Amino acid sequence: MGVIGVDVGGTKIAAALLGPDYAIVQSVRMPTPDGGTSVVDAVAQVVQSLAEGAADPVTAVGVGLPATIDAATGIVGASNHTGMDGLHARELLEERMPWPVAVDNDGNLAALAEHRLGAARGHRDAVLLTIGTGIGGGLIVGGQLLRGGHGQGAELGHVVVKGDGPPCQGNCPNHGCVETMCSGTSLARDLRAFAHATPGSALAALEAEGCLDSRTGLDLAREGDADAVAIFQEAGRWLGVAVASFTNIFDPDVVVIGGGVSAAGELLLGPARHEYQRRALPPTRRAPLVAAQMGNDAGMVGAGILAAEALA
Ligand SMILES: [Zn+2]
Repeated sequence: MGVIGVDVGGTKIAAALLGPDYAIVQSVRMPTPDGGTSVVDAVAQVVQSLAEGAADPVTAVGVGLPATIDAATGIVGASNHTGMDGLHARELLEERMPWPVAVDNDGNLAALAEHRLGAARGHRDAVLLTIGTGIGGGLIVGGQLLRGGHGQGAELGHVVVKGDGPPCQGNCPNHGCVETMCSGTSLARDLRAFAHATPGSALAALEAEGCLDSRTGLDLAREGDADAVAIFQEAGRWLGVAVASFTNIFDPDVVVIGGGVSAAGELLLGPARHEYQRRALPPTRRAPLVAAQMGNDAGMVGAGILAAEALA
């Protein structure tokens, strides 16, 4: 068998031809073009190029989008950066290629990949959060993705941890979502605010050079800068507040944290674990909070798994 998994991100499209056991046979990356059907055209183009190099016939294609999507109909709800709001993504993709196409939210597909092959493998119920610019998520209940009545679940990044907190991003009308307290965006905001309030700090020096963001802030924290460490730890504590709510509600076997910002590792996960253990109801505290294992491949491998399980 051969399936192709595609992960459409805000800045790049990553796609892979997957062989037995979802091993990556070949992969390609390209910049995400601006808006709407040009994204669909680009996806069709990378899929075609991978299919031409495949030894075995391709049977199905899976595509993850940074958007809320009704997985049953393939219609995009709100897309953060890709200008695909309201598009019938599955239909448009199937018009451009000869294979059946499955589409889903990128957080759901990362959860699927971690459950089938990664840190949640072998568990029945799992909560997965992907921390990047925002916070995505996926819920595995009884071994399957929980998508909800309108196919829009599970937007775990929008659980409120601070009722009067900062306004949320994109089309979220809420305040104090965990995404506003522990994401690449919120970390950059907090690092910059500290830099402006604390002249003479290493963070202020980075800001003066115009290169302070969550990545350079993390580099500084890893070098042991106490101010940067404290800001990551604070974000980790807010993450722990959210995790306590998730374990109280879903009583998962495991909680998995992935995404680019999770590169902070124990700097973030340590305080998150401590706060979660302090706040969760005793019976639900047993779920370990662990780092994801699939790395940057989670989205495209998850998309391939979705295609294989739903269509192949
Ligand atoms: Zn929100």
